[in-house]
Amino acid sequence: MNYISTRGGKDLVSAAGAIKQGLASDGGLFMPEEIPSLDQGSVAKLCEMSYPERAAYILSLFLTDYTYEELLSDCEKAYAPDRFVGGAAPIHKLNDDTFVLELWHGPTSAFKDMALQIMPRLLSAALKKTEEKRTAFILVATSGDTGKAALEGYRDVDGVKIMVFYPVDGVSRVQKLQMATQLGENVSVCAIEGNFDDAQTGVKKIFSDREMAELLDKNGVFFSSANSINWGRLAPQIVYYVSAYCDLINSGEIIAGEMIDVTVPTGNFGNIFAAYIAKMMGLPINRLVCASNKNNILTDFLATGTYDRNRAFHTTMSPSMDILISSNLERLLYVMSGAGNTAELMKKLNTEGCYTVDAALKAKLDEHFTGLFCDEENTALEIKRTFNEDKYLIDTHTAVGLNCAKQYMAKNRDGLKMVVASTASPYKFASDVYKSITDKAPADELSALEELKALTSTEIPYPLKDIDKREVRFKTVIEKQDMSAQVLRTLGLGD
Ligand SMILES: *Cc1c(COP(=O)(O)O)cnc(C)c1O
Repeated sequence: MNYISTRGGKDLVSAAGAIKQGLASDGGLFMPEEIPSLDQGSVAKLCEMSYPERAAYILSLFLTDYTYEELLSDCEKAYAPDRFVGGAAPIHKLNDDTFVLELWHGPTSAFKDMALQIMPRLLSAALKKTEEKRTAFILVATSGDTGKAALEGYRDVDGVKIMVFYPVDGVSRVQKLQMATQLGENVSVCAIEGNFDDAQTGVKKIFSDREMAELLDKNGVFFSSANSINWGRLAPQIVYYVSAYCDLINSGEIIAGEMIDVTVPTGNFGNIFAAYIAKMMGLPINRLVCASNKNNILTDFLATGTYDRNRAFHTTMSPSMDILISSNLERLLYVMSGAGNTAELMKKLNTEGCYTVDAALKAKLDEHFTGLFCDEENTALEIKRTFNEDKYLIDTHTAVGLNCAKQYMAKNRDGLKMVVASTASPYKFASDVYKSITDKAPADELSALEELKALTSTEIPYPLKDIDKREVRFKTVIEKQDMSAQVLRTLGLGD
């Protein structure tokens, strides 16, 4: 299967090529030429399988230049029980209609691990398959969770270096510490004065800087990305929607073929787009609820057809969703309206910060997606209510998702089971979770972990235990316009 650009450029690459390259050369994102299908027979087979086997099966449909055996071996290592304590993607039944898909049992306690534990292995294999001699330099912009998950996934992987930029005031204290204390010889972390969009824009600019690429090339290095613009991030995320469906069949909650609804707390539109691909493959998903926080640009877009980033940026207690440019939306536009239209819309977004889709595309969006949002007050209330009434502890992002799922179900009594993606451990945002339940602040952001544990009689997940006792290795903070210079310095090519 070949991969092509969402903007219609000339790239035609294998899956390995797409994973290695990250972004298409016209600035578009890579998409497979066609979407493989998943019939009822294959779903029945998948029901019998373990998570790593399900992952290898689904991935093998998209990554046709990797063998099934190769993928299975990588998936077994990536989703091993000692890394994903409690299971790779278990389901928690909240009530008869609502199921929470827990995606945060990996080594950094956020759903990013679901992709970033396997993707470095896919990249390593891709370097071999394409006989690459140069070092891959992974450049990451993070709103908190991707950075840590990528650092942990790529640490000490042969042939790869990784550098992460994060907004200095845009991540939680725990997130910051997780990154600043990262181990590994091939990693570096840098904060910027600015928000996530500044970090992301800066990284994209560096990716498209030809002079810089030439300089790196002369020195045996090339850029690659670990953000969800990389297909290697997207593909593994399709797996857990299929897996959740199988688990619901296995536990007798649904019968094979029964439709379900899915709600995803959304930032860059990667996770929910993966669910949409699962739907395109034939997984019986009825509606996709795109849940946003106060940065509700996607809610407005899905309601009106106009995407307008000319608006205030809000820092919220669900920082991984504080995003005004949802990069993966481009993939949806491409699938629904083709490369020509997508290129045009992206150009408008770039120059005017705004675009409006035509009626035909709007109708297609309406057929599959509902956009809803949840403000700060209701996020806190949702955490408190879910803990007190359902005896279940959720993080701030999951609370946004659950609240939007409830809004949707209150209006649309379709009787279908709702699966809500839970994207982070509550301990990753312990301070806000504690505050939401008790209406008072913890002593400080770090003691919040122990305080939350005492309050709720739950366990701190292993990746977050004793986080305050680790050595801080990275303290650099730079201006956002200095990102290129910092990259060169890190590579030993600057002054
Ligand atoms: C990254 C992230 C999201 C948003 O996911 P997208 O794929 O960017 O839409 C939501 N919640 C958490 C905890 C995250 O880390």
